[in-house]
Amino acid sequence: MDLCEVVCPTCFETFEVAGPVIEESDFPVEYDYDCNICCRPMLIVFECSYEGDEVMASARGLGD
Ligand SMILES: [Zn+2]
Repeated sequence: MDLCEVVCPTCFETFEVAGPVIEESDFPVEYDYDCNICCRPMLIVFECSYEGDEVMASARGLGD
């Protein structure tokens, strides 16, 4: 399992989240997650790279 860097949409701090296992996942995979720094909720969307060997994460805030 790889760690993905995510930038929080609320506090703009960067933290790492354990991403989904590529072989076992249907991408995109969405997680509801609370920021490690500010504890605000966000939605993290994991996508598989074109080569299929890397998971990339992006986060957006919920509602605001
Ligand atoms: Zn945050």
